[in-house]
Amino acid sequence: MFKAIKVDKGNSGYTATLEEIDEKMLPEGEVTVSVEYSTLNYKDALAITGKSPVVRSFPMVPGIDFSGTVVSSRDSKFSEGDRVLLNGWGVGENHWGGLSQRARVKADWLLPLPEELSTEDAMGLGTAGYTAMLCVKALAEHGVRPEHGDILVTGAAGGVGSVALYLLAKRGYRVVASTGRSADSEYLTELGASEIIDREELNKPGKPLGKERWVGAVDVVGSHTLANICASTKYGGVVTACGLAQGMELPASVAPFILRGVSLVGIDSVYCPLEKRKAAWADLAKELDVVRLQSVTETIGLSETVSKAQALLDGKIRGRLVVDVNR
Ligand code: NDP
Repeated sequence: MFKAIKVDKGNSGYTATLEEIDEKMLPEGEVTVSVEYSTLNYKDALAITGKSPVVRSFPMVPGIDFSGTVVSSRDSKFSEGDRVLLNGWGVGENHWGGLSQRARVKADWLLPLPEELSTEDAMGLGTAGYTAMLCVKALAEHGVRPEHGDILVTGAAGGVGSVALYLLAKRGYRVVASTGRSADSEYLTELGASEIIDREELNKPGKPLGKERWVGAVDVVGSHTLANICASTKYGGVVTACGLAQGMELPASVAPFILRGVSLVGIDSVYCPLEKRKAAWADLAKELDVVRLQSVTETIGLSETVSKAQALLDGKIRGRLVVDVNR
């Protein structure tokens, strides 16, 4: 038996409860993992509360990422005792996920844990950190260098935003942090923000083109915010879009793209190819300052995830929530 969060849907709506589950109930997969840490991501909060239909089959164990140790493997790529991590691939959405003490998954979905990282560090970063690195790498791959100008990070006090801000500042970029939490300005400055703006500046319907303010952006917000970011991006600049905290729609004009040569780069962590994932995690392991990471994380137990899910959707959680599944 193992403990896990189980999400179910009945006549009275969604339920999410901590349960003891028989190992025989685990889904198909070549590798069984003793999970040590998972995290509470925005998508997990949607799955737990049922606020958005991210869960595709019921009952579901949520948790889009985890780290742990292999218990058994029918695939030669992994052996008992290997330390592994997983992000995405629909785990926690259509295959039982990481908010659990046990997981059984396809071998192709797992990555060996980089040597420099503990299983706790890996989930301190989690899908949010790995997505932040995909955004930062995309800016660099599209030629954006620190000397070219400022980079905007939205949702800066959230999971993806906090790590993106830290990584960009560490790489020498001057970072403008957009947030709805002015009370957290000290936290953002400590992470590396050179300037802090109120997210209200960006989240209303705006003009097709505005004053050129930044050369690059990491946006987790979408909607009007993303439209306004593009409209205020300098000639030839690059905007990476990975989230929808404000909304799914993109009420923008083509003006920034056809008049200023701005590029909009989509970032997906879920089905990102293996080589790109490995490269992102290798860079995270190299560039990570474990002490600094601890300042953006809070560790909770499996039983606390349900109550924290709503708080996360309400924007009340700062940084990253790591889940110790054995606590
Ligand atoms: P968090 O909840 O930790 O952070 C989101 C932040 O967005 C909040 O902290 C808040 O920052 C800001 N925000 C929330 N609501 C609004 C709003 N209505 N208008 C403007 N800003 C808002 O989530 P994550 O960092 O984990 O994820 C951020 C987004 O990225 C989510 O939409 C998530 O689904 C997406 N995502 C996408 C991935 C991909 O593969 N493409 C992978 C991981 C995440 P502040 O308080 O500073 O304003």
